This record gives sequence, structure tokens and C-alpha cells, in this order.
Amino acid sequence: MNERYEPSSIEPRWQTRWDEAGVFRAGRRAGAEKRYVLEMFPYPSGAMHMGHARVYVIGDALARHLRMRGFDVLHPIGFDALGLPAENAAIKDGRHPAERTRENIRTFREDMKLLGYSFDWEREIVTADPEYYRWNQWFFLKMLEQGIAYRREGKANWCTGCATVIANEQVVDDDRCERCGSPVVEKVIPEWAFRITAFAQELLDGLDGLREWPERITTMQRNWIGQSVGAEVDFATDAGEPVKVFTTRVDTIFGCTYVVLAPEHPLVERITRPERQGEVRAFAERMRKTDAIARTGEGAPKEGVFTGAHAVNPYNGERVPVWVANFVLAGYGTGAVMSVPAHDQRDFEFARKYGLPIRTVIQPAHAERLPPGDALGQAFTEDGILDASGPYTGLSSAAARARMAEEAGARGFGQATVRWHLRDWGVSRQRYWGTPIPIIHCPEHGAVPVPEDQLPVVLPEKAIITGTGEPPLAKVPEFVNTTCPLCGKPSRREVETMDTFVDSSWYYARYLSPRDDRRPFDPEAARRWLPVDVYVGGPEHAVMHLLYFRFWHRVMHRLGLVHEDEPVRRLVTQGIVNGPDGRKMSKRWGNVVSPGPLVQRFGADAARMFVLFAAPVEKDIDWSDEQVEGIQRFLGRTWRAFHARQDCFAAPPDAAAGAAGPFLELRRRTHRTVKRVTEGFEADLKFNTSIAALMELVNELTGLPPAAIEADRSAVREALAALAALLAPFAPHVAEELWHELMGPPARDLLLAEQPWPAFDPALVVADVVTIAVQVNGKLRGEVQAPAAAGEAEVRALAEAEERVKLHLTGKTVKKVVFVPKRLLNFVVAG
Ligand SMILES: [Zn+2]
Ligand SMILES: [Zn+2]
Repeated sequence: MNERYEPSSIEPRWQTRWDEAGVFRAGRRAGAEKRYVLEMFPYPSGAMHMGHARVYVIGDALARHLRMRGFDVLHPIGFDALGLPAENAAIKDGRHPAERTRENIRTFREDMKLLGYSFDWEREIVTADPEYYRWNQWFFLKMLEQGIAYRREGKANWCTGCATVIANEQVVDDDRCERCGSPVVEKVIPEWAFRITAFAQELLDGLDGLREWPERITTMQRNWIGQSVGAEVDFATDAGEPVKVFTTRVDTIFGCTYVVLAPEHPLVERITRPERQGEVRAFAERMRKTDAIARTGEGAPKEGVFTGAHAVNPYNGERVPVWVANFVLAGYGTGAVMSVPAHDQRDFEFARKYGLPIRTVIQPAHAERLPPGDALGQAFTEDGILDASGPYTGLSSAAARARMAEEAGARGFGQATVRWHLRDWGVSRQRYWGTPIPIIHCPEHGAVPVPEDQLPVVLPEKAIITGTGEPPLAKVPEFVNTTCPLCGKPSRREVETMDTFVDSSWYYARYLSPRDDRRPFDPEAARRWLPVDVYVGGPEHAVMHLLYFRFWHRVMHRLGLVHEDEPVRRLVTQGIVNGPDGRKMSKRWGNVVSPGPLVQRFGADAARMFVLFAAPVEKDIDWSDEQVEGIQRFLGRTWRAFHARQDCFAAPPDAAAGAAGPFLELRRRTHRTVKRVTEGFEADLKFNTSIAALMELVNELTGLPPAAIEADRSAVREALAALAALLAPFAPHVAEELWHELMGPPARDLLLAEQPWPAFDPALVVADVVTIAVQVNGKLRGEVQAPAAAGEAEVRALAEAEERVKLHLTGKTVKKVVFVPKRLLNFVVAG
């Protein structure tokens, strides 16, 4: 065995061995239970850096551990290659996005291989390949058939300078175009959309089953889907047309003392009394120029003006004034609200400011009655018992809501309604670098789907990408000009491409049969491998990608392609990697750490292990070369611990039971470490404490005296074998090397990557065992081993079972027991 630890001589060798043996190929253990470990695939917009690497280090540790647990593991990788960043970069430097993307993928792949990730590379996919995106097109056609894909009038950001639609992230301060600085206006254009709102209820309900997702992610999805159950109620006006209000608290409607319209509400002009027109118009004009967040934000002052008009509450016939105010938005709900100041804090503040009446109509169910409205200090917003509410007085809020919505329906002035914050997913982009939408526009037949056997509609290589004017595909005549599949008349292809979120919505299923050219994936393989068991990625994807792919999975479920309705069982979100300067690692800040030089300096194992040691998975980490060096030194110490104990390598593996003194302590440490590291994988993912436990084990090994007897040598061998195995998910190369040194020639054809994960002996993991003296009437009669935390009863039971102690207790009466924790137990006996 070499004396020195030299990663550069170890790492490439084992990477080749793993590769040749195909140990990371899914399906190697067809009879075993499956585990599908997936990381969010990379978007290769530039070169890879260690900020990208963290997610794969985490996923790889999990995948390697699960293989050692005996599972058949699928751990694939691919590249999310289409989309705006690549196109924008192409506009900037004049290079074709395809060329640039291919180059980035090549370097990403090389860097990933350098870090020794255990991917099944044979399943690699690239979303920019027609073999992949033809299935985006196929899904689009299926969704069209199902009524899930449809054409609508959408609102888009239109740059007046570039004469094109631009993405939200390209609109900078003051509604200007990031590229040319011209004003950006809202423009209504026809677009394709997916009816994700038709799945709102099931996407919401499905969250309850996602018990292994971080709660903050499911909470964000719940809010994003945003269900509110309520009622729509019509208030009659003098203008003939009623004001339709939406409320989630129809039970409070007898306390309504005014109605508020959004300044943009179409009724405002018609109902405002002539003498109030000037003031109302000026107010509406001012509000149009203020953005929604400034108007409705937490601290924003509530402002409004009276229209002079009144509306009639249909439940009690009361005429209430109609106001216009800043905090009601036209885009949300009906753009009109009924105001109940006694039971809504915002309405309360507004009423106080403008001297509008406040009337209490809900009383607390289990507390004192509220004072009359005018004496209230703040709104009472909880549910309670209805008061002063005509025929509904005395009902609970919940019962009243159901009853009152029903009455609204029966009497024709409203209905029970469910509203959602979720909007349909607009999927067309006026861009080049995406999946062409498989539609042909015929002058006679309108939008005609491209027949399935004509897929893929291939993105033409040649295109003029300027980011201005018409979409790039519109300027490629060979692409645009075609004939109608129905009548053969000259027609035009759709020139828009799909949102890049389409690509990442189902890629996890494509990995199951990545070369399949007859269908998107093999349903039999889906039965074997789905759902994904662990998905690792950034929490910033909480509501876009992670919602879209849940939606897509449900669509695939409807199409009979998958058998379960959720794509992922357990979601793991990881923190970000900051550069050495404490800012998020990014090309933009010039603080990136590249895998190549890093691996050359410290080795892949040290780099990987640092990423896992620096913080728990979900926390952010700051890059530190010094700490990577510290990990490298630890791996060097580990190496020397093996080197120093070569005399134990040949000891029999199962003769450690008789080990004593420090060697028994070593055994305890070994088994405790196995337990800790195993729990790290199976429960809390606190790899940092797992690695700390490995460090302690190495310290214990280092401080050990020479082993004189076989049992002690066997104990050392047991510790070394466990250490190599436990290191394998974190620092796989050095672990493999050390394990082979330890095992010698019999293991020549084996690989640690496929060896069973070590087990621990529960008897040896009892934390901090202490020796307690046992006395009978003050005389030492024996001793027992007990956990340090053991109380009197436990120690007494152990002591009474000791043969020598038993002898002195037989036939006597125990009058008293004296117990000194961790030290002594004395039986005071008589007779
Ligand atoms: Zn512009
Ligand atoms: Zn036609």
C-alpha cells in the first residue's frame, strides 16, 4: 500500500472501472426493489461550476447509498437545452444557439465525469434533439384532442422599439425594454395555452398526499393555486346593471355598509352622479398610473372617493353607498367588493377614515359579546354566530354561508362560487430556440394540427435571430410555407415555439426509454420505475416547474401512460452555493469555482465531501478552498490510518467479539458511526453530522495502541471495513481504493460500489455505557454495564440478574436501595 494519499492517481482509475463494469446501469438487479433518484437536470447556458455541482453531489450520495442497500437504482442525467438564455446569448455574440449549446453540454459532461457522479450515462437526453421534442409536439396534439391545449387572447409585453414580444424578465425599471430601452406596453395577442386550471382542484388535493415534500413548498403551491370558496352576489344599481361582488364571507353581508369598485371597473363611468364625475375621474386616472403592489401593499394608505350612487343589498333591501378605492383591483375577482367594516380590518380602517357606518353582525361563539360597531377597536374577523341578520340570526358562520349561497341561487341574485388564483399556462413564445408548435394555419380550416405521422416538426437550423420584429421562424420561408393537411391549399406553419418549461415537465419519464421512437416512453418501464423516489433541486422552483410537472403527470395519467397521479414521492430542496466572496456563485460576479482546477488541486472526493460537510442539505454554503483543503487532509489521515494498520488487514472478519479495553471502545464507536451515517441517509439527510462522525472514528483509530491479540485485530479490521463502506457515498474513489487494499486479492473482481451497506449491532450502539459498582450492605459484590442515562430501576434490574449479587440477596429482605447515577448501587438488606 502506498504511504501517501494521491487522488489524481486513484480517481480516474476507479471511474474507468465503474464504467467498464456498468455498475451504475439501471436494471442490473431486475429482481430487486427499485429506487429512482433524480436531480433537476442542468440548463447548460455556460460552463459548469461548483454552484451547479451541489445538487448532483447530494443526489449521487443518495444513489450510491441506495445501491449499497441492494436496490435497483435509476440515476439518470440529461440537459435542458432549449430556451431563452441560450437564444439571448446567441443574439449577443452572433453564434447559433445549437452550436453554443452543444459546446456547453460537452464541457458540462466532462466536468460531471471528473466529479465521479454515478449516472447511468446511457440514458442521457438532450431536450434540443428532435428525438426528444417531437414528443413535446405529440403531447401538445393529445392535449389539443382533450381540450387541454387551446387558443386564447393573451396579454403580452410588447417592446415598441424591438417590435416584438419580450419576456417578463426582460422588462426592466419603469416598463422599459432591457435590450433597447424603449417603452414596453401591454398588447393582446392570440396565443396557445394549457388549461391547467381544469386541474386546480386535483392539484390542490394532491398536495395532501405529498407528505415527504418540504412543507414550505407545498404551502407555496397551495397559495399559488389559491382556492377561495365563496359566493357571488348581485347588488342592484340605478344604472340598471347590477354590481357583482365576490365574497368569501357572505355570512357577514347584513353588516355591509358600503360597496367598493375598482377604479377601472366598467360600471364606474355609468353610475357616478354627474356632480361627482370630475373627482372620480381624476382619482381613477391617478390610480391607473400607480402599480398594483403600491396600491394594495401592506402599508399602503387606503384611499377612495364616493360616486354619489347607491346599490341595493339583495338580502335586506338596504341601499348602501358605492365608492371607488385604490385597494380593489379590476384583475382580481369581480373588481367589486362588499364592505363589512365590523368584520374586515381593511374595510374597518377605510370606514373609520371616511366616517362610514360600522355594524356588528357576527358574535364570538365562546367569548363576550362585541360592543356595537361604533365602539369596536378593530374588526372581529373570525367565524362566529350570526347576529342582527334577519332569518339567519343564530346560525354559525359556516352554516350561514351554505344557506345564504343557496338562497342567492334560488332567488336568482347570485350563487356559490369557487375562485382560483391559478391561471392557465400560456405556452407560446415568439422565439426561435424552442419546440415548434405543431400547427398549420389554413385560410379555410384555421388552425389544423400537424398529423402525428409527420412529427417531428423540426426546428430549422438556419434562422435569423435578432430579437426584433416578427418571430424568427416567420422569416424562414422553407419552414413557414406548407400546405394544409386537410385540403392541400397553401398554408402557413405556426411560427411560435413552446415555453421551455414544457421540456422539463416530463423528462423524468423519457429517461425510462430514452431511445424509444414509437412513443414518449415505455408504459411498462413507467410501471417499474415511477414515481420518482427522491427528487433533488432548488426551492426556487416551488411554483413553476414543480407545479407544471405535477400537472403534466396528471395529463399523462389521463392518457393512460402512468399509473400513479403524482410524479415524485420525496422532494429534497438544497441551499445555494455562495462564492468565496459570500455572493451567490455566478459567472456574473466572477466568483465561480470550476471543477477542473479544483479536482486537480484537491481531488474530486475532497470537493464532493466539502459540499456535503459545509452545511445541512437545505442550508446555503460559502465556498472555501481552505475548508476543501481541510477535507483533503482528513482523507489523508484516513489513508494513513489504513496504512498504519496493515497488520490487521488479514485478521478474521468475525472474531471481534472478544475485543476488550480500547478495542471494545473502538467497536462501539464503529457501530455507532454505522448507525449515525445510516440515519443520515434514511431520515434527516444531515450529511454534515454523518461526516463529523466519520472524522471521530478516524481519530479513535489513530490514537489506538498496537493490537496484540486476534480479537483486537479483528476489531480494527471491522472498523476499517465500515469506514471504507460509509465513505463510499461521499468520497467514492478513495473509499473504493481503501476497501480494495483492505480486502486484498479475493476482492479483485468486486466493487465496493455494489457491496452491501454495513449493519450495526444494537447492543454496541448504546450511547455511553458506564460501569456501575454493586454493593450489598456496603460491600462490593459485583458490577454492571449500563447506559449512562439509566435510572435506578434499570440498574437495579441489571444488578439483581448478576449471579454474585443474587447470591447475597437470596433469603434477605431489601430494606432500602442507595443509587448514585453512573457510579454505584447499594442494597441495604436485613435478615
Ligand atoms: Zn426593445
Ligand atoms: Zn385547409
